[in-house]
Amino acid sequence: MAPAPRRWLFRLVFASLLLFTCVKAWQHRRLILDAWSFRHEPLEMEMPVKGVAAGNLVSTFGAPRSGGRQHRGADIFAAKGTPVLSATRGVCQRIGWDSLGGKVVWVVGEGPALYYYAHLDDWAVDLEEGEAVEAGQVLGYVGNTGNARTTPAHLHFGIYKLRWLHPSAVDPVPLLKQKVLARHAGPVR
Ligand SMILES: [Zn+2]
Repeated sequence: MAPAPRRWLFRLVFASLLLFTCVKAWQHRRLILDAWSFRHEPLEMEMPVKGVAAGNLVSTFGAPRSGGRQHRGADIFAAKGTPVLSATRGVCQRIGWDSLGGKVVWVVGEGPALYYYAHLDDWAVDLEEGEAVEAGQVLGYVGNTGNARTTPAHLHFGIYKLRWLHPSAVDPVPLLKQKVLARHAGPVR
């Protein structure tokens, strides 16, 4: 048996880890609950830009971008003001502005995954953080805000699969080609 001081050290480390886990779980309680609600892969998806055919999408996932970054999504070009639609059911997690994405919306949705809609010209007026969204619901409008201000208007659409709350980017194009077609092929299941 370990001598008494070492036993106390083990207990202290164990109690600290437990406390750390509990604090993290409390901080991320909304994300944990939403990710659990939408833990199943979507059977079908809505095209996130109204009127664009999934078959016309070209993958640029992994292509080099400024500052040594890689492209972590799909650029879907359309006229400024075209409605941006939620690809799946979910919960609106964040409506905000950032320097790269400009006007952005984050949705926790089926997968579970974080869905990222960026460079919006504007957000849907009635959209609120914490609100449940349906597949096909208008989230905003195509624009070129953020670092897209010198490019033609497009939606940057990102999908980050959540594994133990850790987000990892996946290429949206093959998923959209498969799952948007499923949606428009008629009722599945
Ligand atoms: Zn992009």
